[in-house]
Order: sequence, then C-alpha cells, then structure tokens
Amino acid sequence: MTHLDLPQLRYLARVTADEVNDAQPQAPLLALYAPGLPCVYHSAHPYETAATLHAGFLVERPSEWGFAGRNCYEQRYRVSLAPWQTALRNRHLLVGTRLPPTWRETTRKDYWKLVPALALLWQVEPDKGFLLGYLQRLTTNKQALTEKQEETARAMLRERGARGYSRSKELQAHTRVLLARRDHIFELGRLARLPLAPADQETVQDFLARLTGKQGRYPRSLTEGQGRLLRALEAQYLKERLSAAKRLAERLAREMKR
Ligand SMILES: [Zn+2]
Repeated sequence: MTHLDLPQLRYLARVTADEVNDAQPQAPLLALYAPGLPCVYHSAHPYETAATLHAGFLVERPSEWGFAGRNCYEQRYRVSLAPWQTALRNRHLLVGTRLPPTWRETTRKDYWKLVPALALLWQVEPDKGFLLGYLQRLTTNKQALTEKQEETARAMLRERGARGYSRSKELQAHTRVLLARRDHIFELGRLARLPLAPADQETVQDFLARLTGKQGRYPRSLTEGQGRLLRALEAQYLKERLSAAKRLAERLAREMKR
C-alpha cells in the first residue's frame, strides 16, 4: 500500500528544464510546487510580507540561493515560464498516486475531472486506500467505475468538498476545495519543522488536526480567519523560511549536477 505523509514531504512536485524542453538561456534549472515557499525576492512583494508562493523557480546565484515566484523570475530573467506551470500542475495533482503525468491518454474523457478530484481526496485521507484502486481502474485502458463505486466517490466528494454546485460544475468546485486543503496540510507541515515558539507550534498542530480530520468527523478547510493567521505566522517566520528554502535550493542543485 502506498504510504503518503504530506507534512513530511519537501515539495509536492518537481520539474526540470529537460522535462519541459526549456532551452532558453536564462531558464531555471528546476522548479518546485511547494506551497508556502518564500520568494527569494521577498522585498519585491510589498503587500504580502509573507512572500508566499505555490510554485518556485530555482535561483542559483552566490548571494541569492532560493526560489523565485513566476512573476519575479520572468521579469528579472526575461523568460516565459508558462510550460513549467502546466508541467507542475500535471504532477502535483497526483502526488503519491504513482499515476504518470500522461494519465489522460489512458482515461476516458468523461473522467478527466473526476481523477484529480479523487487523487486529492486520497491525499488528504491516505488511509482510504480503495480510492487508489478507483484511480488505477479509471486510468487503465479507459475503464469506467461501477455504478456503486461512482456513487461512493461522488458521495464522499459531496461530504468533504464544495457545497451548492450543480452536477456539471461540482467536480471543479470539489477539486478547488480539496486542493486548497491539501496545500495547507503541506504548508503547515513545512512550518511545523521550523523552530517555532510553543504557542505557534500549537496553532500549527491544531490547524493540521482540523485539515486531516483528526478533529471532527471529516477533514475540514481552514476558515478565512485561520488562513489569515497562517499568513501572519509565515510573515513572522520569514527569515527562518528563507534559510530553509536556501538549504533546499542548494541541495537540489547539487543533486542535479551530480
Ligand atoms: Zn517574488
């Protein structure tokens, strides 16, 4: 059985220049999808002191090791990073499922929206191993789910996902909700590893318990207020986050050059 421990991962997806065939001279060596990563050019983010990114592009300079957000990187190095964004999305939606980024080729088109929704559902609740079975089935030889499996999947999504959407729009809405929840779990996991004050560590653990369903019947999203508090914590620990990102950047660059 696949073991997934989101809060322990260093990043959710990683793409290299080779994988996106990027031959622009100033292209980054690699990019990560790692929500909560701080932008190395944080002073260029005047209204967002947390300088928090979802995707970061490796910046490798003696004085500035780290990751830059797409806008900051594109402006500084005059490159276009659109293909990277797509490649990262194709991978991060499927973290831990072992499905290839090309899964659509072997999946019926009417399931293209269900697959990411189920993959995210499983990432938030990795003890529901049968969801991996559904995903395997859907992405192998264009198979369909049985009626009963489809009902189970849809009922779970309705319980845990978005509320109040019509059937044609609900899968995208569930995906948005579950994606935010999954990203928050990862983000808080990274934060928890920093040397936080005990009260802040308690807040982080409390949010994690809510998001992973250890509190209450199902996993729940953060409220808006809790989201703001998370942002404030990230701003407060910006220095620590930048050093952690620097260490990660150095390590990944070293690994790639081996
Ligand atoms: Zn930036």
